[in-house]
Amino acid sequence: MLAPTLTEELLQIQATARRLAASFAERAAAHDQDRSAPLENYAMLREAGFFGMAVPKEYGGMGAGLMGWAVAAEELAQGCPSTALSFNMHVMNTGIVFEDPAIAESAKRLFARKVMEEGNLTCGIASEPGSSSLLGGSFTIFTKARRVDGGYRLYGQKRFATMWEASDLAFMWVKEEGDERPDGAMAVLVPTKGEGVTVHDVWDTLGMRATRSNTVTLDGAFVPDGNVLCSVDSWVGAALMKNGAWMYGAYTNVYLGVGVAILNMVKELSAKRTAKGYAQPMSYHPDVRGRVAEVAAELDAARLVLRHAVAMHMETGPSLATLEAFVKAKYLTGRAVAKAAQYAIVACGISSLGRATGLERLIRDAASAAIQPPNEDFCLDIIGQMELGLDPAEIAPPIKLA
Ligand SMILES: Cc1cc2nc3c(=O)[nH]c(=O)nc-3n(C[C@H](O)[C@H](O)[C@H](O)COP(=O)(O)OP(=O)(O)OC[C@H]3O[C@@H](n4cnc5c(N)ncnc54)[C@H](O)[C@@H]3O)c2cc1C
Repeated sequence: MLAPTLTEELLQIQATARRLAASFAERAAAHDQDRSAPLENYAMLREAGFFGMAVPKEYGGMGAGLMGWAVAAEELAQGCPSTALSFNMHVMNTGIVFEDPAIAESAKRLFARKVMEEGNLTCGIASEPGSSSLLGGSFTIFTKARRVDGGYRLYGQKRFATMWEASDLAFMWVKEEGDERPDGAMAVLVPTKGEGVTVHDVWDTLGMRATRSNTVTLDGAFVPDGNVLCSVDSWVGAALMKNGAWMYGAYTNVYLGVGVAILNMVKELSAKRTAKGYAQPMSYHPDVRGRVAEVAAELDAARLVLRHAVAMHMETGPSLATLEAFVKAKYLTGRAVAKAAQYAIVACGISSLGRATGLERLIRDAASAAIQPPNEDFCLDIIGQMELGLDPAEIAPPIKLA
């Protein structure tokens, strides 16, 4: 496996994540089958101090930032992809909040207390019914925030609300009533269990089933003033430019781990299976070797580009160059993971695709690698614009706007 050298602190994080992943793996099939929340895994992550992974040391956290999460996420995903993808939302929220200079110190202190002292788990919801990755009208926020005594009441619906039921707080963007800015929005931390919150159990998908990414209706859910993080002129702009590394880079490490898990399983299964009348296991077959080699090389390449992007973010913070590096890393990782899933089926054959091996579950979990934001077509569009030096304002929308 090719990867940049890790510091002592990162090696420690990696070792802890490996230990947790080994335990997660024992329950991953059951959570997938039942679409159940891996609550005991979240408790273990809390116990290991991982809730504070991206909370800076001066706020009581681990202060490992995006590099810490990159290393941990790849390992955790090998044990239970759903747990890693769900917990990614928590780490991403903390990374975004503590790295954003526009968020008030008082809000950071409150968030640090909630996470580090009260052990709160947080999910993060941007998607609403009807929204897509098209950077036009479908990114407009419809969830309304109405001013009331001491805070706001929220009205609207969010969907793909990963880990909502297991979380204490949800980071989301809402639109304050009367806000005339077309893309203006407010970031808030919403208590998930309060009055005016209804969860609709609709998440019954191909993969990542234990993420329980359900739909949530907000009908008067209360957000106290202290939980308002910031207000921005364009939340899409903020999301892409300021938070792009976390929003796009953090997930990508989880999917890289899913690809590695598939590769490892192909190696193991093909080494164990010997066909009738032959003296060597299937791993000796040149076509199996070739497929393993191709996937291993592409996953290693994806990891190097991804870690390079993470290092850029750690060293220089948000910039167009950093965003470009992440979009390239996401594209390469999505392709490598999709290839790992596709080649695994051919290399191992139907003998290995029964539920008992766990390979079919990993393949289902890998299916969303290419569509998890930024989806691969979005990545190519952005990379093409940047490589060609095009002015985004001069590019026609791909589909006619309403
Ligand atoms: C497992 C999982 C968990 C999730 N959890 C959360 C969560 O916790 N919070 C949350 O907010 N969201 C979550 N999401 C939703 C996610 O953030 C996206 O909003 C959602 O995936 C986008 O919708 P879509 O996949 O239906 O694809 P669409 O965005 O509708 O895209 C479909 C296809 O259209 C094309 N396309 C769309 N936009 C573009 C573009 N700009 N450029 C080029 N081509 C384009 C691409 O071919 C793309 O694959 C989750 C998604 C998954 C798969």
